[in-house]
Amino acid sequence: MTDKRPLRLAVDIDGVLANLVADFVPLMNRRFGRNLTPDDITQYAFEAVAGVSTKEMDDFMRGLIGTGFYGRLTPVRGAADALRALQPQAHIHLITSRPAGLEAETRAWLHRHAIPYDALTFRRRPHKLRAEDRADVVIEDDLEAALTAATLAPRVFLLDYPYNRCVALLPEACVRVRNWGEILGYLGLSAQGGGQDV
Ligand SMILES: [Mg+2]
Repeated sequence: MTDKRPLRLAVDIDGVLANLVADFVPLMNRRFGRNLTPDDITQYAFEAVAGVSTKEMDDFMRGLIGTGFYGRLTPVRGAADALRALQPQAHIHLITSRPAGLEAETRAWLHRHAIPYDALTFRRRPHKLRAEDRADVVIEDDLEAALTAATLAPRVFLLDYPYNRCVALLPEACVRVRNWGEILGYLGLSAQGGGQDV
């Protein structure tokens, strides 16, 4: 069966649909005795920001699986409305680097927040996007994944966060945006209810 919708979207989940960092920072502070805010997360390697070893951070993050943390994440403002507005004309492929063991929790979360999607794939970063995905538009918050995607897709939207600002110049395909309202604007749609701030 051929999908007649003209657009194929590849959409990340954490940082794009779910406020991972904002919800993660208080837990990280408690665990490692820090007093960080989301603005302090200026690199994707949380262990470097928290001043702990990679193993300590990996163990901590692995320990969050099964605690319901991912099921309680707050949605990024405007994300659900934007995808609902886009779905009539776009195939929505969610691609996440979460562990595949979080699939049930992830699907339940998407359902609870009425976030529409056509496919959900679990893939390791930074090579999350593949040519076979035939994505026209990619939406990411991970700079490395966005740069990789920009070699495969004609348009990549990078949602702006302190941890992805460490590059002076983005490739032409890659556009930095502050929120979902801006993405809809680029795609020729206007925001419906929200989408002002990420
Ligand atoms: Mg992400």
